[in-house]
Amino acid sequence: MSEKIKVKNPIVEIDGDEMTRIIWHLIKDKLILPFLDIDLRYFDLGIKHRDETDDKVTVEAANAIKEFGIGIKCATITPNAARVKEYDLKQQWKSPNGTIRSILDGTVFRKPIIIKNIPPAVHKWKKPIIIGRHAYGDIYKNIEYVVDKPGTAEIVFTPADGGEKTSLKIHDFKGRGVVMGMHNTESSIRSFAQSCLNYALSEKVDLWFGAKDTISKQYHGFFRDVFAEEAEKTKDMFQKAGIQYRYLLIDDAVAQVMKSEGGMLWACMNYDGDVMSDMVATGFGSLGLMTSVLVSPDGKYEYEAAHGTVVRHYYEHLKGNPTSTNSIASIFAWTGAIAKRGELDNTPEVVNFARTVENLVIQTVEDGIMTKDLMLIADPPVSKYALTEEFINTVAERLQKAL
Ligand code: NAP
Ligand code: MG
Repeated sequence: MSEKIKVKNPIVEIDGDEMTRIIWHLIKDKLILPFLDIDLRYFDLGIKHRDETDDKVTVEAANAIKEFGIGIKCATITPNAARVKEYDLKQQWKSPNGTIRSILDGTVFRKPIIIKNIPPAVHKWKKPIIIGRHAYGDIYKNIEYVVDKPGTAEIVFTPADGGEKTSLKIHDFKGRGVVMGMHNTESSIRSFAQSCLNYALSEKVDLWFGAKDTISKQYHGFFRDVFAEEAEKTKDMFQKAGIQYRYLLIDDAVAQVMKSEGGMLWACMNYDGDVMSDMVATGFGSLGLMTSVLVSPDGKYEYEAAHGTVVRHYYEHLKGNPTSTNSIASIFAWTGAIAKRGELDNTPEVVNFARTVENLVIQTVEDGIMTKDLMLIADPPVSKYALTEEFINTVAERLQKAL
């Protein structure tokens, strides 16, 4: 075989858990390392290693992405009480994605991979619907309180300059209930808006932003106003690119998206993005076809698959049963990072390698070789599915031939 392609600068590699960890190593060993001379800065975010390091490894990994600019991440377990028991953990460690997102202050963009013989469940969708999810604040940084006796809940703001406090009554409780306090910051919302405007420009797609400012006049209204201000600044560039910025009520946005052909970037507040991205992923066919990239306002990138560790398949694998887990979104996480690295390093041969792998993956599915999740929705139908490793082996063989 010919010489390996040299990747100029390092990529941060973040390992993860369960079925995706198995897939991760297959991809790396069969599709990446045989072809690229690449400096991978490795961080093991497998749950046991996070536990051993008291989760310091997660912070180190995020800081490495800050330093080198590009990371790739395998799916990781966010432990709940059952997982603490299952893996005998010291505590219920925080979501690694949450930790990394707050260190990079980034926006998550999720984009489906479109394959001809995998038609979306929503027949009208022809082009990708990219979801831009705000990755800071709201209910993900909330404070909650269970009220267990009658009393009054208030919001109190204490100015740092010693000025007068402001207090607002939330509710006079007559009995049990719940309260929640949450926040966001202008700087985070502004960089979210800027990231979305930039990403829309780079992908040449319209940008939609939906919120509920009719009900939440201050909180959601604040988001709407910041978006409008930032959109005003890029108006000329949008016009030149032939694209538009639209503000919609969130429920209207949902209805319009369902009726559309796709082909827009839909900017969502944190919770809306969490929910809507799963709906859009499922609408496009499979979670195994949804890619995800975290982009920070200063241009750092972290690529991953949108799905989790596919734990049900992993338990089958542990029992010694064959699995048919889709590796496509994980492969595209690798190629997304490699292509971006090549773009930033100005090494077109590296970008070209990544695009070649992506095209071969799509071609393989279009030739009728696919995992079970895709077989169930393929049109025209196929009669058999590939096992996890079989699919990756097929792509590897084709890649050997192509290069
Ligand atoms: P999941 O891993 O996304 O899987 C949910 C179901 O979706 C699977 O059981 C499978 O359905 C299907 N699926 C997802 N990805 C697939 C793929 N690549 N190929 C084929 N089918 C796929 O979610 P989960 O099982 O609810 O969560 C497992 C763990 O992942 C949790 O501990 C959670 O904390 C973690 N998680 C991590 C991330 C992340 O790191 N980014 C994101 C979400 C969840 P069938 O079983 O019906 O085949
Ligand atoms: Mg979610």
